[in-house]
Amino acid sequence: MSAYEQLMQFQHDTEALGQVAGRLSWDQETMMPRGAADQREEEVSALEHVLHERRTDPRVGEWLSAIGDDALDPVQTAQLRHIRRRYERATRVPSALAARIARTISRSQVAWVEARAENDVPAFLPKLQEIVTLRREEGAAMADGGDVYDALLDDYEPGAKAADLEAMFGALRPRLVALREAVLSKPMPPQLRDGFDEAGQMKLARLVAKSFGYDLKRGRVDKAVHPFSSGSGDDVRITTRTMPHDPFNCLYSTIHEVGHASYEQNIDGAYRLTPLGRGVSMGVHESQSRIYENQLGRSRAFTGWLFARMTETFGDIGVPDADAFYGAANRVHKGYIRTEADEVQYNLHVLLRFDLERALVAGSLDVADLEEAWNSRFEADFGYPVDKPANGVLQDVHWAAGLFGYFPTYTLGNVYAGCLHEAMRRDVTGLDAHLAEGDTSPATGWLRDNLQQFGGLYRPREVIEKASGQPPSEGPLLDYLEAKFGALYGLG
Ligand code: ZN
Repeated sequence: MSAYEQLMQFQHDTEALGQVAGRLSWDQETMMPRGAADQREEEVSALEHVLHERRTDPRVGEWLSAIGDDALDPVQTAQLRHIRRRYERATRVPSALAARIARTISRSQVAWVEARAENDVPAFLPKLQEIVTLRREEGAAMADGGDVYDALLDDYEPGAKAADLEAMFGALRPRLVALREAVLSKPMPPQLRDGFDEAGQMKLARLVAKSFGYDLKRGRVDKAVHPFSSGSGDDVRITTRTMPHDPFNCLYSTIHEVGHASYEQNIDGAYRLTPLGRGVSMGVHESQSRIYENQLGRSRAFTGWLFARMTETFGDIGVPDADAFYGAANRVHKGYIRTEADEVQYNLHVLLRFDLERALVAGSLDVADLEEAWNSRFEADFGYPVDKPANGVLQDVHWAAGLFGYFPTYTLGNVYAGCLHEAMRRDVTGLDAHLAEGDTSPATGWLRDNLQQFGGLYRPREVIEKASGQPPSEGPLLDYLEAKFGALYGLG
């Protein structure tokens, strides 16, 4: 066997074990009996240990240097790019530091849950300080002389630079603030009635999942507290949740996760259990979930079909017709919580977090001043003050989980979705006529052919540029939002 073949065989088993670890965590969120928690922790930690050993195994370094650069095709070159990048990052971080970070994160998440329940920011700050310090240290090790925040960001969005995101986000912010103000000065669309039963919501969730092309022979839909998608290749599962007063939460969370899951399911089968067999970055992943959820799922055409399915299932749903239903599905309302935000306001939540976490990592913002910085930025962008920490600085688990550099990928995903949507509308004729019949296949087929099938073959920006025909920029997203909500809210 050549060095390349040996490396790929080794990597295959590492990828397979990684999938097993993912399935354990799926099980923990859906099926695991409560009493199994302690044993599960030991099982996960044993598997993580094996994975860490494999990811830093010196043989990987030896194989990498034994492989000549010639005689490799583009697929092999891309496989090696991923393996080399991950190996270098894994081996730069001392094992003791990695272990300390893992321990601190599991304790700080517990502290965060308590602090959030009590609205007690000071109780959480010592743990937050510890995490910032450790992640900064880890970032410095990975950065190898480069920018520390960029090194953290690179874990979620390989190749992205904070300075580029800053320029992009800086262009988004004023137009989003202006749109938000204009929309909220208008009367709000009607809401649905209350009291939607769980069985009906789950039936419709499976129906919309299918209508968006989710392959249930290689996936499944279960209930969990927080919706997520997990797995790659031939086993990609999603979860959803139901709330009696808000069937949109169930339906659009499902469509969102179907976007993530379809990306994984539609990657070229030849890449299964290789580094190319997974979505290439968090930002590109989020572009798929958001275009399924928003540009397609919340379009006037698709909501027309969905309105008919809703009234078939539930009878009178509280709005008289498909136009009112479209307004209800795109209702912009005041709120504090990122995960509940509409398309207009969502990115403002992310931009706030991006600026604050960069300042925390750089050391220009002290954790002691974080709450004040959060509150004043929130009031500047949203126009009203935060009422309590659970609705402000303590609302997201990310920082408690050590996820610095993750937030910006949400907005990057929306920006990418804007670019892809513009190109899709140009390429696919009669798209709305299909969506109005509940047929998303021209849209999802376009995404599969132009982006999803490639998995990790191209770099994140590269695959967006290839699919949309131009370098990614915030323009298409802003134009789309202004046109859609301008029409919906009758803005001048
Ligand atoms: Zn997502």
